[in-house]
Amino acid sequence: MPYIAAIDQGTTSTRCYITTPDGEVVGTAQFEHEQIMPREGWVEHNPREIWRNTRRALSEALVAADLDVEDLAAVGLTNQRETAVIWDKATGKPIYNAIVWQDTRTENVAPDGDKTRYLKKTGLLANSYPAGPKWAWILDNVEGARERAEKGELLAGTIDTWLIWNLTGGARESRRSVFAGMFGFAKDRAQHVTDVTNASRTLLMDLETLKWDEELCAEIGVPRQILPEIKPSFGNFGSIRRKKSSREVPITGVLGDQQAALFGQGCLDKGTAKMTYGTGLFMLLNTGDKPHFSEHGLLTTVAYQKAGKPPVYALEGSVAVGGSLIQWLRDQLGIISNAAESEKVASQVEDSAGVVIVPAFSGLFAPRWRPDARGVITGITRYTDRRHIVRAALDATCLQTLEVGRAMEADAQISIDALRVDGGMTANSLLMQMQADVLESTVVRPDNMETTVMGAASAAGIGAGLVDEPLSLGQEKTWENTMAGPDRDRLIARWEEAVARSLDLA
Ligand code: ADP
Repeated sequence: MPYIAAIDQGTTSTRCYITTPDGEVVGTAQFEHEQIMPREGWVEHNPREIWRNTRRALSEALVAADLDVEDLAAVGLTNQRETAVIWDKATGKPIYNAIVWQDTRTENVAPDGDKTRYLKKTGLLANSYPAGPKWAWILDNVEGARERAEKGELLAGTIDTWLIWNLTGGARESRRSVFAGMFGFAKDRAQHVTDVTNASRTLLMDLETLKWDEELCAEIGVPRQILPEIKPSFGNFGSIRRKKSSREVPITGVLGDQQAALFGQGCLDKGTAKMTYGTGLFMLLNTGDKPHFSEHGLLTTVAYQKAGKPPVYALEGSVAVGGSLIQWLRDQLGIISNAAESEKVASQVEDSAGVVIVPAFSGLFAPRWRPDARGVITGITRYTDRRHIVRAALDATCLQTLEVGRAMEADAQISIDALRVDGGMTANSLLMQMQADVLESTVVRPDNMETTVMGAASAAGIGAGLVDEPLSLGQEKTWENTMAGPDRDRLIARWEEAVARSLDLA
């Protein structure tokens, strides 16, 4: 059986799934890593801990599946995007912790303060997320780093690059390590590469040429020679080889985490979209082989690229508060005792009886981008009780999704007929029905909701030529619109009014 190992290196943990080409999961393992917060707004990870957890996850998932590394036909990788590492080429030691995507220390990127300065070239806003300015920060703040970078002694990477370099022979290995021999470390084999979806999150890659842009590198302050080679998402990224063995296991698929979820969900056609309902909400829309630049605060990114083919692009929109609103109901208001109860409580009423929550806890993200907006609850009467508040929280999730979806449709001039969904909140079937009603379209939830890690397995399978399309996520459940037009119009009008109030507070 040609088994696939898929590694999902996320913000809080690292997981590995071993799957068959039919999508059957035969072994898993997961390890959390430390969140290092040296100052307000700063978030770092220890790259060595991430590497350790990755090889532990890989070996323990293999043990769980009763397999050996040599039983694998391909390895796939998906990762937290935009998190930046720089390490010493000779010793393999990072010169600073990884600066995590959430870290705000590089907020002021553009010299003229214009957040849209690089939008047309990179698809990204000049805010604190992209990796490029984080690399520049490390070079400017670690003694001697910039000179060493100019001399070619350092390597930069996002997490995919760091892990591939280690997996393909770059890491130093202690002889006492339980993994001794597993990766057959040999520096000359180590690959310094990244995939095009990860490179599209750096602010240094030109979205159309798919190459590092010299001008951007100079302006942002990252020497070109420390950057990895950019490769298509499916293909050969180097291989893992056990010491003394001639059998090589190739790494054949790499995608950033949101792109992996889009791919895993099978959104391969122009106009297909997925929404991940986690702590925040993340929507990606496949816009085909042309990048569409947003007029509504959305990002443009590479969705994936097959070797020798033009890239497929996506529009991306994020909403800050999704599942965290349910957590707020539970922890701050104390009106539900767990997240699942939100469904039970909200289903006890027909609607929110006019109550609207705009959860602008830290401002509003896409498509409004108003960091100064503040949250409001409107329409409360003597009749209002907790059921209406909880229902209004679910409404807010659906309406924020509608706003991002509409912005995408306008930017790409595409209509989204069906939304494929995943993430913790989609366990809530009432929410899924309400979402189909608000969007006036079909909502589709796969049985296997681990779309990110399955997307990485799919990418590896395709890169290795084992499969032609993404692995099966099992039986789907779908919801269709059941809401009458005037009811939807009223709901949307009330939401608009409440958002206006939330902006008034700014
Ligand atoms: P993340 O990957 O961002 O940590 P998850 O995909 O694990 O998020 O989803 C967790 C979020 O989903 C939490 O914020 C939680 O409040 C919310 N959630 C979990 N179950 C439900 C439910 N049945 N109804 C509504 N929200 C839920």
